[in-house]
Amino acid sequence: MGIEAAYQRVAAEVRSECLRIGRDPESVTLLAVSKTVGIDGVAEAIQAGARDFGENRPDPLTEKAQAFPNVRWHFIGNIQSRRIPAIVSAATLIHSVCDFEHGKKINQAALGLGKVQDILLEVNVSGEESKSGIKAELASELMLGLIPLPALRIRGLMTMAPQGDRARALECFQSLAQLFEELKSQLSAEHAAVFNELSMGMSEDWREALKAGATIVRLGRAIFSPDFSAD
Ligand SMILES: *Cc1c(COP(=O)(O)O)cnc(C)c1O
Repeated sequence: MGIEAAYQRVAAEVRSECLRIGRDPESVTLLAVSKTVGIDGVAEAIQAGARDFGENRPDPLTEKAQAFPNVRWHFIGNIQSRRIPAIVSAATLIHSVCDFEHGKKINQAALGLGKVQDILLEVNVSGEESKSGIKAELASELMLGLIPLPALRIRGLMTMAPQGDRARALECFQSLAQLFEELKSQLSAEHAAVFNELSMGMSEDWREALKAGATIVRLGRAIFSPDFSAD
């Protein structure tokens, strides 16, 4: 299957799954993770209707965002301090903030560009050592530390679930959703009003993520790998 057909199929599947579980399809963003394809692959996905793209490295993010400035570019990878200016220049939403110093640098870069940078806090709810993200019990401290920075807008939380076990993935997503509610209750009305995104679920486990309340599902292989099958 080509990228256009794959995107359209998965977009239809996400919509119908939302309807099946009683969620508004408009409340969910399908993020096309284009890290394995080049400019041509992105063009095909745009042709099929994709408007939100995710990249995990700063250089392809910059290159693709320059090639396609009229869609939204999300940064979903590990953040390296010295690449923060490039990331902030290109990203609509940075999903992977899990360090206070990085938050401060993002704020500075955003101030320099005269923008307010939307960010998510990446939380390691699975507890796997190999996963990035801040520990759940430290998330509140990080959030409350970053809230005063004027050029940051904290929009919610992101996580990666362990792969290969959908039941465990669902548990992770539900833990993140619970943490999200706890953190939201610690915010002032003004900050709580924009704290409304849960980025969770990938090609293998997006149904579980939707069930747990995901507002952004990040799909790579389901769109860009011709022979991907989750079953
Ligand atoms: C690659 C990647 C995805 C997409 O994963 P697939 O399994 O290909 O859907 C989602 N989120 C992050 C952070 C990624 O790095």
